[in-house]
This record gives sequence, C-alpha cells and structure tokens, in this order.
Amino acid sequence: MRSVERQAAIRECVVPVDGSSTAPSLIQVLQPMPDFISYHNPDTMGYRVPDEPGFSVLTNRRPSRVLGSRVWLISGSARPRKYHLHFWFVADTVNELQDNDYQYCIKGSTGQRFAPPLSLTDFPWFRKLQRSKGNFSFGFSPVKDASIIRHLERFVDSPAGLTSGPIQTTRRRATVTDRILRDTAASARVKALHRYRCQICGATIRLPDGSLYAEGHHIQPLGSPHDGPDIETNILCVCPNHHVELDYGCRRIDISALRRVRSHRVESLFVDYHNTRVMSQTGV
Ligand SMILES: [Zn+2]
Repeated sequence: MRSVERQAAIRECVVPVDGSSTAPSLIQVLQPMPDFISYHNPDTMGYRVPDEPGFSVLTNRRPSRVLGSRVWLISGSARPRKYHLHFWFVADTVNELQDNDYQYCIKGSTGQRFAPPLSLTDFPWFRKLQRSKGNFSFGFSPVKDASIIRHLERFVDSPAGLTSGPIQTTRRRATVTDRILRDTAASARVKALHRYRCQICGATIRLPDGSLYAEGHHIQPLGSPHDGPDIETNILCVCPNHHVELDYGCRRIDISALRRVRSHRVESLFVDYHNTRVMSQTGV
C-alpha cells in the first residue's frame, strides 16, 4: 500500500474515544476491510453469471482477508465491451475446489442482486477502475481507491436494487419479520455499510440461514413527537440489545466512541437530541 493510502486507511480506522469516557480502551482500532472486485467474462468462463439464490464467485488467486469483506461482481461482454454490476455480497466462506478450472470458491449469503444487472460502462469513475485494474485482467482483486467504493456503494439498496427482487432470502424475512419489514431503505443502507456490526459494541448476529443481522436505529426518532428525518446521518447500525437501550433512553450516545466506516457520517445534532430530549423524556 502506498504511504498516502496507508495514512488515509489509518485515519479511517482509528476512532478516538472521548477523553471523559471511563472506557478502559482509549483508542479503538478497527481493521479496515478491503472491498474486492470479481470480474466475470462469459467468453473465457464459458457461461453467464448464474441467476441463482445465494452469492458466489470463483478465483485462482488465494484470497487473503476476504472473509467479512464485500465482493462486487462485475461482468464484461460483447464488443465493444459492456460492463454490468450483477451483485455484491459479504464473503463468509472460502472453499478450495478440486477438479475445477478455478481453485477457490468464495461464497456469501448476505448481499444484493441486481436484476437486470446495472450498466456501468458509461460512468467516468468506472473507466478509472477499469484502467486501474488493467481491464480486469486479474479477475479477482481488492479495490484500494475509496472514491470508487463510494460510487459502488451508491447502488446499495438504491431503488434500482430494491426493485430487483429479494435482497435477503425469504427464510430470513420469515425469521425476523417484524424488524426487517419496518426497515427503511436508508437504514438498510447504513446496516450494509457497517456490514451488520453494531456501532456501539461491534457485535453482529448470524441467523440460521447464514445471513447477518443488525438493526437500524433512528437517533432522533421518526414520527411524533420527535419527527426525526429518515436519513443516513440520523441512523446507527446497532445490535438488538443496544437498539432497545437507545429506544428506551437507557444509554447516552458518545459520538466519538462509535465505530465508523467510510461513507457513513453521524450528525452530532441528532446525537445531542438523543442525549437531551429522548433521554429526559423517558425519565432515565
Ligand atoms: Zn451492540
């Protein structure tokens, strides 16, 4: 990693904790998880991107640090080449394959499939990605440019994605019907950005079908009497325990101690609202 990128990565992953905090750790270091691009060329692979439930990609490169990372599958076909984004997912298993053209299969159960696939060909940032990847000759490789990832993240839970069919499996909907169904698009996006890790304690929950589960908390609550906005800067990704503590005003929010990721900023005005209005209203 070049030193400029390294500095940027360090800045992003060191979360200073408020000096007044009694927490034993004064500096919390979060490992930044790289995003990966997997490139699918139907001409050389001999088949189109499979349209099946679940997510998987094949590679011959031994994947390092891929578990828990997000993988974006892009295909290129026809001449001149047309490029499409088919899906993204969080990698949760890597299998070594035998008797196969490819050595490794990376799979995940949490992600989002775009049907039809989203056209990327004409985006200037995509052409930059294409150049940086040598026209995707590596097949599967990490993306180090944070601005490219921000562009890709705009598709996460976008209307284009939401109309594309089920994001989660129907089994997952059945398991946690109540909470999933009242999720807003903004909170779904915040949870995906945090890869379903609680911003307070870092915990995540794995459901029986293998997908990850977290909840979106509106810091200044939606609806009367609080009338908070349904926007990402007013949402935290949290575990169910911390969600209840926040809903009932049992816990102050220490903005400097929150776990952070790229592309998700928390607005301090909403945190102030929680720490004063929400907490006083519930009498804690
Ligand atoms: Zn938590």
